[in-house]
Amino acid sequence: MRVQTGVSFLFALVLACQAKKDYSGYQVLTTGKLSPVQVDALRNLQTSDERFDFWKEAHPDGAADVMSSADHLTALKEFLTKHNIDYSVKIQDVGEAIQISEKPSPTKKSNPNARYNLNWDEYGSHDDFNEFIEEIASQNSWASVRSIGKSVEGRDMKVLELTKGGSGAPNIFIEAGIHAREWIAPAVATYTVKELVENYDSHPEYLDNFNFYVLPCANPDGYEYSRSTVKSGVSDSPCSDVFCGYTPTSEIESQNIKAFYSTLSPVPELTVCFHSAANLWLYPYGYAYDSYPDNVDEIRRLGEDAVDALNAVNGQSFECINSAELYPAAGASDDYYASLGSRFVYTPELRDNGFGFVLPPEYIIPSGEEVWAAWKVMLDKIMPNKE
Ligand SMILES: [Zn+2]
Repeated sequence: MRVQTGVSFLFALVLACQAKKDYSGYQVLTTGKLSPVQVDALRNLQTSDERFDFWKEAHPDGAADVMSSADHLTALKEFLTKHNIDYSVKIQDVGEAIQISEKPSPTKKSNPNARYNLNWDEYGSHDDFNEFIEEIASQNSWASVRSIGKSVEGRDMKVLELTKGGSGAPNIFIEAGIHAREWIAPAVATYTVKELVENYDSHPEYLDNFNFYVLPCANPDGYEYSRSTVKSGVSDSPCSDVFCGYTPTSEIESQNIKAFYSTLSPVPELTVCFHSAANLWLYPYGYAYDSYPDNVDEIRRLGEDAVDALNAVNGQSFECINSAELYPAAGASDDYYASLGSRFVYTPELRDNGFGFVLPPEYIIPSGEEVWAAWKVMLDKIMPNKE
């Protein structure tokens, strides 16, 4: 999901609430297609009733996903029935789903020859991401790691810079994990790095012609909180502005990213912000209906081509749509990057697969593979001297 703030911040992070929570018995209900009136009703519910956690916001002709504890499930069902909203159970027991998603942090012990902990069979930790990019940097003269600041809790925010393309080559920025519980996002961002670097021989033109800047985990405190403290992937740290966690200091990470991004010259040709979980490939602007960058035609074309390639890999059914068509949301980072002049900006909402945010780890590699197919299309099309 994208950040929805309604305030003047360029984009905002959400930190988790500091309370342990057990999600046993929690259910996620998914609605049928919604009419505009039903959308309004659900949005009112979302902003007025903190018992319910919207995993997917209501939007016309779409479905909403709503989580409720067992205690409030009857009230939720009554609300849906009252508004003639069809629904079915998407996740029977969120607590159980979390246990499936949540495996212990990967460890080199299982493979003594591994150069880093991170593997894509399990969800890594923030330390694993940093170790991975440090290792990539130590092995390649054209790779380096830049610290762009610390999180509220003091975690190092690190960007991997792959600058083999050299001065003046088009820059590409990859941001992932700004929403803590969207675990698949950092996993796919790091998978992309692995493919670019460790499979270089299969496609040298990408690293040779572009410079890549990758922030694998844009919200490290929230990420770590969501995966350990609360033993859950669904802490109260959603994409919506109606939940606890907005504090003035939660903006530090955003400020770090903004300051770093402003140093990139030329302005990134392509900026990709990984989120989940809606099987969408969003393009700007998202702050209002019918508001687009001047070059929206080429943005849409490239996005649609990328999605075609993605869907062909594993038979997924991603769609490329304008962010505001999902729901208008002011203050999302993709709009910010587009407003700075990044030519192509996309927010992939990675796989749902019926699991929402608690995507089991066996889907990491298929997700990485299909997104890589999208990368190839995008990079081939914007390759210098090929236009
Ligand atoms: Zn999100």
